[in-house]
Amino acid sequence: MKICVYCASSAKINKSYFEATESLAKLLVDDNIEVIYGGGATGLMGILADTILAQGGKIKGIMPKFMNEIEWAHKKVIDFEFTETMHERKSKFLEGIDGLVTLPGGSGTLEELLEAITLKRLGLFTKPIIILNTNGFFNPLKEMLERCVSEKFMHEKHLDIWKFVDTPNQVINAIKEAADWDSEAIHFATNK
Ligand code: AMP
Repeated sequence: MKICVYCASSAKINKSYFEATESLAKLLVDDNIEVIYGGGATGLMGILADTILAQGGKIKGIMPKFMNEIEWAHKKVIDFEFTETMHERKSKFLEGIDGLVTLPGGSGTLEELLEAITLKRLGLFTKPIIILNTNGFFNPLKEMLERCVSEKFMHEKHLDIWKFVDTPNQVINAIKEAADWDSEAIHFATNK
């Protein structure tokens, strides 16, 4: 399996977020899962890559050239793809993967996640989207998304687009057991 992980660049966050990321990275390597990520060396991106490399796993970074020019790329990650734009990077993240996992992060992580949810709603991306809700970090987002549905901005079926889990050891099962989704989703993308 190949999965993409979206996560924070910040190094100043609580250590529990680092611990959860490290645990997840080990579980992914144990399950022989290849990881695609943003290519960063700091924050949760840094610990994700460091742990996967230390465990002998496979990781690939995808980063726009301008970030590499300011030396944000992780120096020890060998497999790298540099894109012209942020948009191109985001579309490459989703190519050929079997699932997407989002860990806590800032606006970068949130916008990547929301784009993937929107593409899945339109049937343009069909793989599982798992959100690791460490420390209840994503509770406000969960509430917001559920409110989109309860107030009929979105369809009830859209609740199957994402799955929130509380601990790293629930992530891989959540990917394997995610509700089926396909391009037919376009037909209920909008509540009419
Ligand atoms: P955030 O969750 O806001 O930290 O955003 C993570 C995303 O921010 C990454 O995918 C990048 O687009 C970008 N980013 C911000 N700072 C860095 C950094 N130091 N190294 C790599 N990417 C970064």
